[in-house]
Amino acid sequence: MKYQRSSALFKAAEQVIPGGVNSPVRAFKAVGGTPIFIDKAQGAYLYDVDGNRYLDYINSWGPMILGHAHKPVVESIVNTAQKGTSFGAPTLLETQIAELAVQMVSSIDKIRFVNSGTEACMSAVRLARGYTQKEKIIKFSGCYHGHSDSFLIAAGSGAITFGTPNSPGVTQGTAKDTLLAPYNNLEAVQNIIEANKGAIAAIIIEPVAGNMGCVPPKEGFLEGLRLLCDQNEMLLIFDEVMTGFRLAKGGAQERLNIKADIVTFGKVIGGGLPVGAFAARSEIMDYLAPLGSVYQAGTLSGNPLAMAAGLQMLQELNQDASIYDSIDAKTQYLHQGMATIFDSHNIPHTINRLGSMISVHFGTTPVVDFESSSVSAATGVFSKFFHGLLEKGVYIAPSAYETWFISDALTYEDLDFTLAAIAQVAPQLK
Ligand SMILES: *Cc1c(COP(=O)(O)O)cnc(C)c1O
Repeated sequence: MKYQRSSALFKAAEQVIPGGVNSPVRAFKAVGGTPIFIDKAQGAYLYDVDGNRYLDYINSWGPMILGHAHKPVVESIVNTAQKGTSFGAPTLLETQIAELAVQMVSSIDKIRFVNSGTEACMSAVRLARGYTQKEKIIKFSGCYHGHSDSFLIAAGSGAITFGTPNSPGVTQGTAKDTLLAPYNNLEAVQNIIEANKGAIAAIIIEPVAGNMGCVPPKEGFLEGLRLLCDQNEMLLIFDEVMTGFRLAKGGAQERLNIKADIVTFGKVIGGGLPVGAFAARSEIMDYLAPLGSVYQAGTLSGNPLAMAAGLQMLQELNQDASIYDSIDAKTQYLHQGMATIFDSHNIPHTINRLGSMISVHFGTTPVVDFESSSVSAATGVFSKFFHGLLEKGVYIAPSAYETWFISDALTYEDLDFTLAAIAQVAPQLK
């Protein structure tokens, strides 16, 4: 059996880890079946414990933008580890990566490092509240900002006034401070602001959404949010955990030519180690402890191994901006190839793409927000697509709500191999 050892390891894991995984999407619940257990990875490839090889389109959900086990990053981690792995005291590495990040992202003067994207977004909201002295935030349905309580909110019946918890354990008290709007709907945001005059600290958004499939912002949408924030003394928070250092050196802000007040990072910025960060101009960042009164801390924040990996990664991206043209061109090649195959088999599809973020929805409704994303996700066609490709050695995200991440380690031969696999799977998708 092809996945024998993975199945056995998953059963063992289920005995001691809830659902057998440390992050839910890994359990394949949305597509069924047993997750593959990874033994190792190199470049564009993953190898599972049964010895199967896969072309990887998840890339650790984004960080491995230059491919797995990228030599300079691995060497940097190893060399740093030999000098000790954590001190709980400042190191030069932290200043070096901060200087580079500030240089690459034009809207920020200062940056604070944390251990995950969740922590970055949670801290950014606290900072925005401390700075504006207001309590409510606006977020968008289908945008993911990590699993902290304020973000695990669904639209309530009185969506204009407040949201409701969408996980047990999140209190009504927390939910009432998060207001929900549909992505790409400026009018809804205006209505919410109108109904909550003077009470909203910030709008937090994925400038290119990547957690309901890839959903780019409509023309004028982000500009409209920028204006609303300026008119109502609210901060605009761009969650660039996915888009940062991926869509351009300066992330979505550079690519789409728009500036946020606070920006959060994760994924690529850690080079594959657990890192998040949030950043802003000095005036805002100086509200943070120990300079200011907004508290935020972390025992392992700025960990030397993590900083060494992230620094090496950012240095490579900064030195060779042609990487962005290269991954964009590869993603476009994949996009065109897939569209041609689906067209020739009369398979209804919508492919959304911006730069090296791409997703496939099996339906013809334009996917512009969470609701339209859900329509095609509900058909079950995606599961067949996923398992068909896995069988042929192509590992895509196990959910219709996830973006694929293209790495520069993928060659055009790899892309042709992928397209050939898609062509073989396509007839089963009707
Ligand atoms: C992944 C992600 C997060 C959460 O980051 P973690 O490191 O998983 O906590 C937050 N925001 C966005 C946009 C993400 O894609």
